[in-house]
Amino acid sequence: DFGLGSWPARRARIDPDRTALVQHDRSLTYAGLADRVRRLAGALTRLGVRPGDRVAYLGVNDITVFETLFATARCGALFVPLNYRLSPTEIRYMLDDAGASVLVHSADTADLVAAAGGLPDGVVIATAGGGFEAEIAEGGPRPDTPVRLEDPCLLLYTSGTTGRPKAAVLTHGNLTWNTVNQLAHLDVLGTDKALCIAPLFHCVGLGQITLPTLFKGGSVEPVAKFDPGTILARIGEAGITSFSAVPTMLEMMWRHEAWDRTDLSSLTCVLYGGSPVAGRVARAWLDRGVKLLQGYGMTEASPGVSMATHEGTLDHPVAAGVPHFFTDVAALGPDLTPQPLDGTPAELLVRGPHVFAGYWHRPEESAAGFVDGGWFRTGDVVRVDDDGWAHVVDRVKDMIISGGENVYPAEIEAVAAGLDEVDACAVVGVPDARWGEAGAAFVVLRPGAELDEQQFRAHLERHLARYKIPKHVLFTDTLPRNATGKIRRVELRTLAAETFT
Ligand code: AMP
Ligand code: MG
Repeated sequence: DFGLGSWPARRARIDPDRTALVQHDRSLTYAGLADRVRRLAGALTRLGVRPGDRVAYLGVNDITVFETLFATARCGALFVPLNYRLSPTEIRYMLDDAGASVLVHSADTADLVAAAGGLPDGVVIATAGGGFEAEIAEGGPRPDTPVRLEDPCLLLYTSGTTGRPKAAVLTHGNLTWNTVNQLAHLDVLGTDKALCIAPLFHCVGLGQITLPTLFKGGSVEPVAKFDPGTILARIGEAGITSFSAVPTMLEMMWRHEAWDRTDLSSLTCVLYGGSPVAGRVARAWLDRGVKLLQGYGMTEASPGVSMATHEGTLDHPVAAGVPHFFTDVAALGPDLTPQPLDGTPAELLVRGPHVFAGYWHRPEESAAGFVDGGWFRTGDVVRVDDDGWAHVVDRVKDMIISGGENVYPAEIEAVAAGLDEVDACAVVGVPDARWGEAGAAFVVLRPGAELDEQQFRAHLERHLARYKIPKHVLFTDTLPRNATGKIRRVELRTLAAETFT
């Protein structure tokens, strides 16, 4: 068994007494974790979990997420972490789509589980109130089928901006190779103390720093709820070395009143990704001497595709770095073949042992995701600069074609973010009789800031070609976002179409 489920026991042979996981007053050594994972895998086997079965998890970041992940993996079953911010209907859909036979949930999601209708034909285990502990205490038989690297390990539902959410199937091998890639790129040490801030139902939370740290024998501290002040305090008091975050988290920490007096000197590796970060936020962190690195990736790539380097990040503060060690990148050519990627924005293709093989029970969508035998179509427009660093220009689907010109909302949003008065800005396309499509900008001002449409336009006009300036501007209080801070553009497009056409 070389699967993910064997990691705790393998690390326990080398560093049994090192701390693997810590949260509040609880901590587990690698030997302790290995023991509990062995017992929980036994319990799952006793409850009928077999290789290929699905074990769902619903709850905030906690030590129990890791225990359940490793134990499920040890059984050769698939771990399905679900987003606890979803509605009961969405949870019901995912439990049915995955065909989960076991659901593990925390106390704060008990109502959600009940509202979703539970698991009529399966086993529900609560991590609170003794159920989970009782299962571990009782244990069960050792899973007897060895896990192979090509076996599926994780089902991760993608944000699903179009239609029903679909789950990417990641194998033990995919997750292992992603870990190797991260470790080839980053200075992760066995003495590291990483905070796990990003939610574990998303690939950034699991793959970017958390699994690599556990692989190296460092310690990971899951954080249930992101609060900028609490995180800043924790960095100073616990000597945190690393974490990975989404850009909005970095911005909230930088804007927090404790920012200036927080000792950040223990940080050796702060990663972020998932969406573009405003240049001023990146610079604020870099100016404090923090080793801030942008990563670019997606669920389907487990997730890392490219990452900034420790040496180069100061010269390329907002670029998405260079491809990982075992990652090939190319541009999608006009005849759907891979072409060399250069300074011209093009849809990025990715290939590597960490790239998934397909979506769960979706043969057509899986096939459509690849071209030329194994190149995954990322749906992202990327260009590389003269130093070979990748710049994520935008998503193909978000591109606006106005009067025959390609307009990338992300470029306009980055310019808008250069205004101190602007807290956030999102640009979407609306149908336009004259131009085919026109841009509509939704602008959220910082509390107390004053800026009118004319001033906003004047700023954009100073930095952008005329055809890129949004035709419509709407000031609003907030932008709809998903759990990882991504703007829900589908909602904005509907709203813009209703408002401006
Ligand atoms: P997901 O579908 O939730 O796995 O998110 C992956 C998507 O997030 C990518 O396809 C990109 O569109 C976006 N993304 C990830 N990293 C970055 C980054 N560093 N800069 C800009 N966009 C990013
Ligand atoms: Mg995606």
